[in-house]
Amino acid sequence: METHVMQTLQSGALYRNTIENLEAAGNLINLNPNVLERLKVPRRALVVSVPVRMDDDRVQMFTGYRVQHNQTLGPFKGGIRFHPHVNLSEVAALSALMTFKNSLLNLPLGGAKGGIQVDPSTLSKTELESLTRRFTSEIGPFIGPDKDIPAPDVGTDSQTMAWMLDTYSMESGYAQTGVVTGKPIEIGGSRGRDSATGLGVVYTIEKALQSKNMMISDANIAIQGFGKVGMHAAIEAYALGARIVAVSDVTGGIYNERGINIADLVSYVKENRFVKNFPGTAAISNEDLLELNVDVLAPCALDGVITEKNCECIKAKIVAEGANGPTNSVANKYLHEKGVLVVPDILANGGGVVVSYFEWVQDIVWLFWKEDEVRNKLREIMYRSFDKVWQFSQEKNKDMRISAMAVSLQRLETAMKLRGQAW
Ligand code: NAD
Repeated sequence: METHVMQTLQSGALYRNTIENLEAAGNLINLNPNVLERLKVPRRALVVSVPVRMDDDRVQMFTGYRVQHNQTLGPFKGGIRFHPHVNLSEVAALSALMTFKNSLLNLPLGGAKGGIQVDPSTLSKTELESLTRRFTSEIGPFIGPDKDIPAPDVGTDSQTMAWMLDTYSMESGYAQTGVVTGKPIEIGGSRGRDSATGLGVVYTIEKALQSKNMMISDANIAIQGFGKVGMHAAIEAYALGARIVAVSDVTGGIYNERGINIADLVSYVKENRFVKNFPGTAAISNEDLLELNVDVLAPCALDGVITEKNCECIKAKIVAEGANGPTNSVANKYLHEKGVLVVPDILANGGGVVVSYFEWVQDIVWLFWKEDEVRNKLREIMYRSFDKVWQFSQEKNKDMRISAMAVSLQRLETAMKLRGQAW
């Protein structure tokens, strides 16, 4: 591949980290070198300029991306991120993580990711809608219910998906509800999608605690990020009797060693937008939250928060990665050697794409499931995936990250060989 393209991809720590993990797991299972070569780079990367007429009539240009990593197992699938740090390298790394996640979870889907470099909080609703619609139009030829199915990620939500669905359907001339997942229930969304990623995180926390002979009802938990993943992880863990001692968002965190009433906090955040100043709690920084003496730490915000700089200060027994890429390779190695069980992103936060898959299936057959059905099927897949990774890690005496990657690669290798993609 062209050197400058490789240089761009490798410019980001998350991409380098993902390839390092891929190579380590590949070596562990003697992965076919041709399979490894193909998986190191995305299949297709689209960069688009998105003009938006702002409220003051000025035209502002934004840069958007859609990276399609691999479609051996099925159509490309992955979220859309609106964040100021979005760049080609990050989106490519996240698209590769989607390939590995979907393979690990045994879904018939490939991996993709997209995003726009923008701080959505600085745009009016009209500007945000224009941005989303124009972006959808630009990537339109490359997405579709049978080709590539976007979903929400950081800074996007079910409303974003509704605008994408509408734009894509307008341009097709008929309703294509299966083009995105994570959309509102009224227009083809699945029950249980909003809470799916957080619930999946909690199912893996339950399993991780079991491996240490602990129950979630006896555990105390700190959660970084109180968005779609962190808030629902808090709600679900709280409902199971866990003590949530700290949570945070971009403005900082709150702490109460006796536990925070999550139901009240959710109402508070609806009114006040952020968790800060929630009555009965003390302020804590995002950095200090990571170092609390808790049973479980769930980083559910952004990547690169647990590194060589702070890993020696992590006191949790279990780290459940709700976010993508929160722990880098150096920190992962250190924590594993110290006996901390790190449940890696492609396993811990897989609940979102599992229910996205359920949503996509429901849209194909136009038959919708009850929430209980969604939750039960999700639990089955999360428990089964955890068990597979746990068994591999025990047999090979390896950490959960390399084990998850190895289990995922075994399925991908078989599929690529069957399709004649590796010789
Ligand atoms: P979100 O935008 O709904 O929430 C992000 C949260 O993180 C917010 O509370 C925000 O205030 C906080 N945050 C942002 N910057 C921060 C910072 N610098 N320090 C501390 N907190 C900060 O996003 P989300 O959908 O909850 O995604 C969170 C993570 O989970 C991302 O890594 C995403 O890729 C991953 N993920 C999301 C899904 C999903 O279904 N939404 C699925 C799998 C993985």
